[in-house]
Amino acid sequence: MFSVCSSKTAPAEPAAKTVADSAEQELKRSLDRQNSTYAHEVRTQADGTVPAEKALAKLKEGNMRYVEGKPMDRKFDASARAALAEFGQNPVATIVGCADSRCPVEILFDVQPGDIFVLRNAGNTCTHAEGSLVGSVEYSVGHLHTSLVLVLGHTKCGAIVGATSTALSKKEKAQSGETPPASTLDKLLAGLGPVALQAASELPKGATVDEVAAHAIKVNVFHTMEKLLTYSKPLREKVSLGEVVVQGAIYDIVTGKVEFLGECPRQALVLDMETALLPRTVPEAGPVESIAKEQEKDPEPSSSAASAAKAAGA
Ligand SMILES: [Zn+2]
Repeated sequence: MFSVCSSKTAPAEPAAKTVADSAEQELKRSLDRQNSTYAHEVRTQADGTVPAEKALAKLKEGNMRYVEGKPMDRKFDASARAALAEFGQNPVATIVGCADSRCPVEILFDVQPGDIFVLRNAGNTCTHAEGSLVGSVEYSVGHLHTSLVLVLGHTKCGAIVGATSTALSKKEKAQSGETPPASTLDKLLAGLGPVALQAASELPKGATVDEVAAHAIKVNVFHTMEKLLTYSKPLREKVSLGEVVVQGAIYDIVTGKVEFLGECPRQALVLDMETALLPRTVPEAGPVESIAKEQEKDPEPSSSAASAAKAAGA
C-alpha cells in the first residue's frame, strides 16, 4: 500500500469537528509554512520546497558524512513521526535505486524519514511504462514537488551482471533460435539486454563479461534516466520548464562513495523529440487548404517543424 499518499489525512479527525476548528488548524498550518522552520526536526509540508541544486548538495554532504563514518547526530522519535503524519511529507528528492540490500539509500545519504522519496527494484531499471515506477516518479514530482530525480546505480550490481551474461551468451548463440523467458526475472534481465549490448559495443573487442558488466552499470543509469523521460510526458514537461532536474549517480559499495554523473547525455534529444511531436496547429479547414495558408504566412519552416524534420532524419 502506498501509505505515503495518505500522510495528510493520517491523524484521525474528530467526528464532530467544527468549521471553527478547521479554520484554526488551517491558520496554524499556514503560519507554520510561513515560518518554514525545522520546528519538528523533520521536513514536512510546513517547510518550503527545495531547489534541485540544494537537494543535490544535501545528498552530497550526507554521502560525505557516511563515507567518513560521521553520520549526523539526530533524534527521530514519536514527535517527529507525529509531525510527518500531521503536516505531510515534503521530500527533497526522488531517488530510483537498486533493491540490492547493500544499497540502503537513506543510510548512504545520511538522511532521515521524510527527506527522500525512494523507489527501488533489481537493477534500478525502467524497461516499460505500465506497471513500472514511472507513475511513482510522476507522483513525487507532481504532488510532492520534488525538483530532483536521481537514478542511482551501484558497483557489483548482480542484476546487471546477470543481464550482461545472458545478453552476451544469447548474442553468441544467435543462430540457435530464441527461447522464451521462463520467469518474470528472466523478462527483467532480458529487458536489460540492450543495456548490456550497448556497453559491449562501447568497449574494445575481447572485453570480459565482468568488464562489460562494470561499464553497463553506467550505461544502465543513463538508460533508465532516458526511459523515465521517454515514458513520462509530465516529467518531460517539468524538465523542459526547468522545474525538475534528472541526474544520475553510481554508488561504490566498497568505498561508500557516490559518484555523481550529471544529466543524461541524450536528454536534449529526448526533450527535442517531445517538441517535435507537438502539433503545430489544429487546422479547421481541410488539410490541403490549411497547409497552403500556412505556407503563405510562414514560408520558412517553424522551429517545431524543423525539429520534426530533424527528428525524422531529414
Ligand atoms: Zn543492483
